[in-house]
Amino acid sequence: MGLIPYKNEPYLDWSDEANVEAMRSALQDVGSSLGESYPLVIGGKRIETDGEIVSVNPANPSQVVGRVAAASEREADMALDKATATFETWSRTAPEARARILLRASAIIKRRRFELLAWAAHEGGKTWAEADAEVAEAVDFMEYYSREMLRLKDGVEIYSVPGEESRYFYQPMGVGVTIAPWNFPVAILMGMTSAAVVTGNTVVMKPSEFTSVIGAKVMEIFEEAGAPEGVVNFVPGYGSEIGDYLVQDARTRFISFTGSMKTGLRINELAARQIENQRWVKRVIAEMGGKDAMIIDDSADLDAAAADIVASAYGYSGQKCSAASRAILHADVHDDVLEKVIEKAKALKIGAPTEGGPDVNVGPVISEPQFEKVTNYIDVGKNEGETLLGGDPGDPSEGYFVPPTLFEVDSTATVAQEEIFGPVLSIIQARDFEDALHIANDNPYGLTGGVYSRNRDHLELARHEFRAGNVYFNRKITGALVGVQPFGGFGMSGTDSKAGGPDYLPLHMLAKTVVERF
Ligand code: NAD
Repeated sequence: MGLIPYKNEPYLDWSDEANVEAMRSALQDVGSSLGESYPLVIGGKRIETDGEIVSVNPANPSQVVGRVAAASEREADMALDKATATFETWSRTAPEARARILLRASAIIKRRRFELLAWAAHEGGKTWAEADAEVAEAVDFMEYYSREMLRLKDGVEIYSVPGEESRYFYQPMGVGVTIAPWNFPVAILMGMTSAAVVTGNTVVMKPSEFTSVIGAKVMEIFEEAGAPEGVVNFVPGYGSEIGDYLVQDARTRFISFTGSMKTGLRINELAARQIENQRWVKRVIAEMGGKDAMIIDDSADLDAAAADIVASAYGYSGQKCSAASRAILHADVHDDVLEKVIEKAKALKIGAPTEGGPDVNVGPVISEPQFEKVTNYIDVGKNEGETLLGGDPGDPSEGYFVPPTLFEVDSTATVAQEEIFGPVLSIIQARDFEDALHIANDNPYGLTGGVYSRNRDHLELARHEFRAGNVYFNRKITGALVGVQPFGGFGMSGTDSKAGGPDYLPLHMLAKTVVERF
């Protein structure tokens, strides 16, 4: 296939009035389609259910974004059946044809870009720029994985002994269950699902209960792109109600999960148990939480460091697995960096992305449970150290807003150890660079990390010794680009599956060796 070389989808320029206008108009259009109902889609058929998920705008919880059917075990069973039957044909469909579906999905996302941004603002509480970065990432996943499939479709070169031919190639695995979080409801849901589908598997796709309307939009895109009925089955529902069932079922071949450590570990454990009629060892691809640290040493560009700490900590209200939640500052620059971080964080504009413009930097957190969780951690942080900024969440009935919050704490404090997943940053002072690196590594997670330094020895040490899957020097630590910064963590952050990287698609396939003697 003659495709143009891969490149990342550029972000929208919000200084261009035409983009601002297009976004306002999309917000209005989406605003007039709120409250609609969305059924499950199994084998191409719309299925209504008794249960329902009511999805609300986190900036205005009385506004219902949509009502989404919630699957029970009955519908989960139907979806597994459909996916199992469809695997017979889909797994034998040419890889080129599968790749073209992703390419068409990419074109559709681009055509529906502002509409998707407006849904992300309404249901995810995303600022315009954050929503745009996510939708661009979804385009990138489609473009990258389609090309990756073409690269891998005939297998890879190995050696043969004289008189024999050894071939090494990949085959589809079976039925995959994709389980997504709410923080990247377009990009992660589409990314995981498209990787499973392009490699010839069929999928039961479960979005997060907090962003199921966007999940329904993702399903629309797969359908519009021409994914045959039964290849992707849309099964929204509560994790607590259908999660275990989908994971444990003997028809499930693999689970591709992104979400919290707790859920990921549960899935890993349940998937490991063999049940009746199960004929394979299930594969689990799990990307989980983080407690990501940025180290600023005494040689760093302090202005740039402070700007990137603030961007990494408070972008999407800190609700990114890659978000900086610890800033570890060398004692000699501690006061200067802190002053700059506070100044920049104070300048952030908090507001409802559905009401404000492109200048809103911080929106609400996603939900009432998340608001409660973050608020509880803030109470803990107040007792553990000094509150330098924020700390006073508003009334949740008026929107789940939590102001950017900053604590100075000891490295062993709870708020410096556990994932909070909100706009809360812990400042920790270090004696020297080795101490800073030790503090950064002294955590079960290992997703992203950053170092600001002009010291070559420090950078080289961190290059090898910083225990994280994605380490960034002298820049922010969020916003990994597909194909450029393959993404996935060490330790309790997951299976280091590196979404958007060259090793990702083979995780969804069986590598086969065939040897013929002549
Ligand atoms: P979560 O674990 O609560 O939920 C994730 C998904 O799992 C949801 O769809 C949920 O319904 C489902 N689920 C819940 N219980 C289940 C069960 N028993 N079996 C199967 N599925 C079940 O996570 P969340 O709050 O949606 O997302 C936030 C978390 O995701 C954070 O910890 C964040 O760090 C992590 N995350 C990680 C990455 C990464 O690439 N490493 C990316 C984004 C988010």
